[in-house]
Amino acid sequence: MARLFNFNPGPAMLPHSVLLRAQAEMLNFNQTAISPLEIGHRSSAFQNMLSSLQDKIKKIMNIPNNYSILFLPGGAQALFSIIPMNLGKKKSTADYFISGSWSELASKFAQRYIQINNNHIIEQHKLTNKNTWNYNKEAAYIYYCPNETINGVELIEFDNPYNVPVVADFTSSILMYKLDVEKFGIIFASAQKNLGISGISLVIIRNDLLDQAMEITPEIFNFKVQQENDSCKNTIPVYPVYIMDLMMDWIQENGGVEYFAKQSLIKSGMLYDYIDNSQFYVNGVDKSIRSRANIPFDIINNNLNDHFLTKAQEKGLLNLKGHKLAGGMRASLYNAMPVNGVEALILFMQQFARENT
Ligand SMILES: *Cc1c(COP(=O)(O)O)cnc(C)c1O
Repeated sequence: MARLFNFNPGPAMLPHSVLLRAQAEMLNFNQTAISPLEIGHRSSAFQNMLSSLQDKIKKIMNIPNNYSILFLPGGAQALFSIIPMNLGKKKSTADYFISGSWSELASKFAQRYIQINNNHIIEQHKLTNKNTWNYNKEAAYIYYCPNETINGVELIEFDNPYNVPVVADFTSSILMYKLDVEKFGIIFASAQKNLGISGISLVIIRNDLLDQAMEITPEIFNFKVQQENDSCKNTIPVYPVYIMDLMMDWIQENGGVEYFAKQSLIKSGMLYDYIDNSQFYVNGVDKSIRSRANIPFDIINNNLNDHFLTKAQEKGLLNLKGHKLAGGMRASLYNAMPVNGVEALILFMQQFARENT
């Protein structure tokens, strides 16, 4: 079978070598003769893997000792509600920086639990005037989404004049560039984009934020309870944790976040360059805030969209349809997408433009 390239935003392409390893270990998890699908979450084999996974993440992301690493059931959208519950005990408001669809939804979910102050920091594919951003000194936290998967915008850093804990949804860009973890109160990510498969979230939390939970917080979504129980208060999603462990080995074998940061700039740079220089495709996002993970683009003659997608699929370039809110096309270039996948996409786009001009 010819090599296929899956540009799906999530669940996303996994590295081929990770899939092969999962296949090879399917009937025998770490010399136990038990499948990773049936291994007990309290068995020593699994518990050893869990603690070594935490060590790997700590090393790869350079996480200081005053942070805890949790694995929680439910994806990022579960955390949209769980975070305000976990941080809202002493303070009654939170600042939300809205940069696109996911931060907007997070703000909507959170307003059931905490009073929200919304700042629209990106509008019409551009940063809004920073002087209009309204920071609340008494906020329990500032929430933002560094990479908006649907809108294709990326904003990594901003001012934090009152030193309020920053909560960041890194679902679509974690491990794609180096982070200074100390600048964050909470970093979280659903696993199915850059960390493996769906069913679990990684939560990295500064320890002083562990005991700020409101009374109504459900037991298994209480960060402190899960921290005290090594994320095993209830049955942890075992297989997604196992796949995340394979992903971390793969990241390390390839040279860590530094390597993937370079790769992500090379891959996205190639595609943006081609789009910007073509008369056929367009990406309207301001250059200073373009995402390196998710690249939406339109065919200027958008009657050709369906034809483009059919032809792309015939070439083994899968799932390029844009999100229904954005329309057009979108290529998701997470760490598992090799450079030659992007090269194949650009070759196809050139050929399609020639044949349809
Ligand atoms: C995909 C995505 C989500 C939603 O994740 P679920 O696991 O479906 O809840 C949230 N935030 C961002 C930035 C995403 O890319």
